[in-house]
Amino acid sequence: MGNDVIIVGAGIVGAACARSLAAAGWDVTVVDRGVTAGGTSSACEGNLLVSDKGPGHELELAQYASTLWKTTVADLAEQLGTGFPSVEYDPKGGLVVATTDAGARALLAFAAGQRGAGVDARVLTIAEARELEPDLAPSIAAAVHYPEDAQVQPTIATEALMASARRHGARLLENTAVTGPLLDSTGGVAGVRTTTGELRASRVLVAAGPWSGEVAALFGVHLPVRPRRGELLVTSRMRHRIFHKVYDADYVGAVGSDDSALQTSSVIESTAGGTVLIGSSRQQVGFDSRLQVAALSEIAAKAIRLFPFLAGAAVMRSYGGFRPFMPDHLPVIGEDPRLPGLWHAAGHEGAGIGLSIATAEMIAALMRGLPAPIDASPFSPARGSLAPHLEAA
Ligand SMILES: Cc1cc2nc3c(=O)[nH]c(=O)nc-3n(C[C@H](O)[C@H](O)[C@H](O)COP(=O)(O)OP(=O)(O)OC[C@H]3O[C@@H](n4cnc5c(N)ncnc54)[C@H](O)[C@@H]3O)c2cc1C
Repeated sequence: MGNDVIIVGAGIVGAACARSLAAAGWDVTVVDRGVTAGGTSSACEGNLLVSDKGPGHELELAQYASTLWKTTVADLAEQLGTGFPSVEYDPKGGLVVATTDAGARALLAFAAGQRGAGVDARVLTIAEARELEPDLAPSIAAAVHYPEDAQVQPTIATEALMASARRHGARLLENTAVTGPLLDSTGGVAGVRTTTGELRASRVLVAAGPWSGEVAALFGVHLPVRPRRGELLVTSRMRHRIFHKVYDADYVGAVGSDDSALQTSSVIESTAGGTVLIGSSRQQVGFDSRLQVAALSEIAAKAIRLFPFLAGAAVMRSYGGFRPFMPDHLPVIGEDPRLPGLWHAAGHEGAGIGLSIATAEMIAALMRGLPAPIDASPFSPARGSLAPHLEAA
């Protein structure tokens, strides 16, 4: 097979994969039915978290990503120059707080497990937590500081990764939907049909976020990625009063949950622009993008419980997106054994911004037949935990 690949999707995962492969000298074409960062990667927050992940494979990928972000941000700035907007990388650290005694016990046990897996998770007294965040409610029950948590501006990060990929020679076709496969005489992948014509390549990488299941289905392959709606509030600009990513410990439970009913937890952060982002909800409502007022009012109430001064803040807007949910809570990264030449980089749920560049390095190594930077088998489309969720094509 040649060193050529078509990437379906110009979100952050597709952009990052394009960059890593093009930098390795591959012939890369990215195809998106809309524009770069037109999907979930601009309808989210930009948290790069280790704090919300318990010991396991996703945490290992996040820890690897955390080391990559530091160098990637510097490389992007150097390559793209001062004319390109900053990705607003801010290694500000996270502060996770519990508001009840039961929540405190769960949070401290969770943090102890994470420390065993190499996460820097520091239990604070309430006074210490309020030194980090003077406006935090005094009534909190426990707090853990995670200095490794960081954030980026996700839309700009996606655009920067794509711009970098293009400078390495990747082609980008926007406003071009992939509509079906091109197969060779043996039934192997030979490219894609699109709304603007046929494109030939020996590999196709599905990086279509929450639509990855639909794209895989065009190739006759079942991939159980489902949309999981999330909504956020944005305040108007204000004096900088929140210095870390601050969230309540309920968030960790919501992330790992399979529940399709509405779940909310408060995740609060200041942005470089002076607004405060208050997230977020989790709900499986298909691709229904109607505003969920109940979700937004619950999010607001929880945020005020952590930062009472937010009761007086003006909300400027709300927005939402669809997380690419996987039933076994791990992204799919690798070649599909059911159709050689078809690859996946999808299903990152609420962590795709953070995990994007690590996913890209995994894909670039695996496609080139090199050892993956971390064990790739837990993310393989052939893994055992996914098998019960796969339907025969
Ligand atoms: C409310 C909310 C908050 C979040 N907060 C965070 C966070 O703080 N940190 C974090 O790491 N992650 C967060 N996420 C998750 C993160 O946004 C996603 O995991 C990530 O953006 C997925 O990126 P992607 O490139 O896989 O998909 P997308 O960005 O959705 O890109 C997929 C692309 O595929 C294209 N496409 C689809 N079908 C076709 C087709 N047939 N042909 C051509 N193109 C096609 C689409 O147009 C789209 O541009 C959040 C998500 C939500 C909804």
